[in-house]
Amino acid sequence: MKFASHFVHILILFATGSLVAGCGGKDDAGLAGADTVYRNGRIYTVDAARSWAEAVAIRDGRITYVGSNDGVQAHVGADTAVVDLKGRMMMPGFQDAHIHPIGAGVEASACDLNDLTGVTAYRSRISEYALANPDVTWILGGGWSMADFGPGGAPNKSILDELVPDRPVFLSSRDGHTGWANSAALKIAGIDKDTPDPVDGRIDRDPQTGEPIGSLQEGAQKLLSKHIPATTIDDKVAGLRYSVKLLNSFGITAIQDASVDEQALQTYKRLADNGELSLRVVGSIWWDRDRDMGQVPEIIALRDKYTSGLIDARTVKIMQDGVLENYTGVLLEPYLVPDQTRGIPMVEPELLKQVVARLDAEGFQVHFHAIGDGAIRQSLDAVEEALVQNGRLGHRHHISHIQLFDPSDIPRFKELDVVANFQPLWAYADDYITELTIPFIGEKRSRWLYPIKSMQDTGAVIAFGSDWSVSTANPYHQIETAITRKSSENDDMESFIPEERIDLETAIAAFTINAAFVNRTEKETGSVEIGKLADLVVLDQNLFEIEAKDISETKALLTLFEGRPVYGDIAAL
Ligand SMILES: [Zn+2]
Repeated sequence: MKFASHFVHILILFATGSLVAGCGGKDDAGLAGADTVYRNGRIYTVDAARSWAEAVAIRDGRITYVGSNDGVQAHVGADTAVVDLKGRMMMPGFQDAHIHPIGAGVEASACDLNDLTGVTAYRSRISEYALANPDVTWILGGGWSMADFGPGGAPNKSILDELVPDRPVFLSSRDGHTGWANSAALKIAGIDKDTPDPVDGRIDRDPQTGEPIGSLQEGAQKLLSKHIPATTIDDKVAGLRYSVKLLNSFGITAIQDASVDEQALQTYKRLADNGELSLRVVGSIWWDRDRDMGQVPEIIALRDKYTSGLIDARTVKIMQDGVLENYTGVLLEPYLVPDQTRGIPMVEPELLKQVVARLDAEGFQVHFHAIGDGAIRQSLDAVEEALVQNGRLGHRHHISHIQLFDPSDIPRFKELDVVANFQPLWAYADDYITELTIPFIGEKRSRWLYPIKSMQDTGAVIAFGSDWSVSTANPYHQIETAITRKSSENDDMESFIPEERIDLETAIAAFTINAAFVNRTEKETGSVEIGKLADLVVLDQNLFEIEAKDISETKALLTLFEGRPVYGDIAAL
């Protein structure tokens, strides 16, 4: 009920434009003949009433009908594809409100050999990787085992030269002590038979000719690695391409990138221009804390240059503190450490107020990083100042991470229209919490770690994000932990602050309609309603019919982006 009334509140505040054509439309001549009809589903719509439906009709990428199997028949024309969902759960595509897909993709899309054994397996992975990533200028990665290369454990460049003759390759061993290079990489680094061994390493050589054989031990790796160029936009495009596919495979259809610069925006644009960006993207432009207000015109220029189509750059990211584990998260009271530090505010709090007020006046949403109770308060105070100076402009400022609260600040999110952007996967007692956090803030303050339910009870909008690659982008793992406050991989552990568990409806809303609200697209996405874009996912199990501990096992079977399958196979449903 809280969320239903809350959603109405959102609509009243922000329904400035008219709803899209077709919204609320009945079946008429104009709507007959959907492109695709999905029927026999258990469709969780996430509309204001959180209602369920059996069928949807889609035309030109938009939902033209939501309702019963009988009702959808009127939308079946001669050319309509009719898909039987066989009782499966369908719901709006997930939206991740805090994620770093370009960096994560570059990292994850390196050539990873860690799960393999034997040179034959390495060979096929490397050549598959090279074929699949024609834009990658340097093939990097690793994870090979010295045990697979016989006595001495030294791999030879000839294997790599045969697989990848034309691009440099450099792959680290599993333990990181040896690097395996091909001839192209050695040539770029200028490593040949005349290159002396460094004092802290060894260039393995052919005993007859003295030629480097392609394995570099310890410090000798640096002779080569210093020539590896900084990540190029081509590498980023390749990384993002990987990430978009991965996110679509989870059923994710929209994101907020928590930190972009111009090159990141170019990366998104490249993929969008190629028609490969099957994801709505809000880019949070990084606020350079070493500069002053002088950067505002540049940020405005970036916004105006890149906001179009699937890309929205009307957000600025301000990192206000570090993390608790190394005492850089800003606290109201000292850490329990000898020097009594309270952490390090990244932007001086009075300046932060002026920055946020200015950005708010310029039409930006501010996306804060705040971990400690002090940084959360500084962020809220800054929004409060912006509201005093500018009035309520409705820019949906949000604070991410929000780990440790002073309880008096919890109601201020609702009061100041600030969205609480939690990373729910972090809300269980792993070593970071038990070993690195609680001993240094004490039991009393620890009660207020990730108080998601207390936040819900204030009526604030709660959105979820993964912070991938910090932790998994898989939303099913995150939803399970939000509900159980346990690791999704350990059902036996105790719930961490069990009174802060939330229900499944709340968790799903945080990943759909509420994340859409943060992404400013809740009139177009985030629920299954007539007139909205058909960004949808079909799951292999109904989240409402299984035990919470099994939610993390869920797989997306089919992801639709504007009605178009971008993951999975309709025929295999
Ligand atoms: Zn982040």
